[in-house]
Amino acid sequence: MDDATLIRALVTACCATIEEHAGELTKLDQAIGDGDHGLNMSRGFKAIAAETDALAAMTLGDALKKAGMTLVMKVGGASGPLYGSLLMDMGKSASTAPANEAEVAEMFRAGIDAVKKRGKSDVGAKTMLDVLVPVAETVSEGGDLEAVRARTDEALEATRDMLAIKGRAAFLGERSLGHIDPGARSSALLIHAVCNVLE
Ligand code: ADP
Ligand code: MG
Ligand code: MG
Repeated sequence: MDDATLIRALVTACCATIEEHAGELTKLDQAIGDGDHGLNMSRGFKAIAAETDALAAMTLGDALKKAGMTLVMKVGGASGPLYGSLLMDMGKSASTAPANEAEVAEMFRAGIDAVKKRGKSDVGAKTMLDVLVPVAETVSEGGDLEAVRARTDEALEATRDMLAIKGRAAFLGERSLGHIDPGARSSALLIHAVCNVLE
């Protein structure tokens, strides 16, 4: 797949899954946040979808940077700057489509480091990082798409029993227990969408 085809396929798949699951993301955020995660993600990814032609004319790196900036600008909630940082720093680390798994792993690692920095956060706080970090581990260990999918689902489910210590859910303390983290769910949705494009 050339960059343009890959970019179009990624944008289409990611936007579609966010649209399809916006209601579910909102429900999850109603349980432990302020109930806007579906709306935030939908607004951000609709803005990215509107830029599809411009993005497809760029290298993968530039397209990731532009899509990341769009999320930062269009999404008011915490998730906008966090997903924006993920994409922007993935884009900075990869000029063209990664040629092998090691390059994919490196690109992913660079993006996740930016999320940690921007969120002053790490694994174990019941956030998107609790899906992104374990999945990046599987990628860097050379896991195939099936392994990545399995790790994604397992990591997502594990956020249910975590105590939130970052983001709005942290205000709930122990009442955050028993609920999947909304941002972990949106990360899982996006990872599944990317896996479906890459297979
Ligand atoms: P807001 O919390 O501002 O309403 P969203 O509802 O769109 O924003 O996003 C909430 C999600 O963002 C959480 O479920 C969590 O996964 C993620 N999140 C919030 N704060 C942080 C942080 N400091 N580090 C990493 N992820 C975070
Ligand atoms: Mg919210
Ligand atoms: Mg909010």
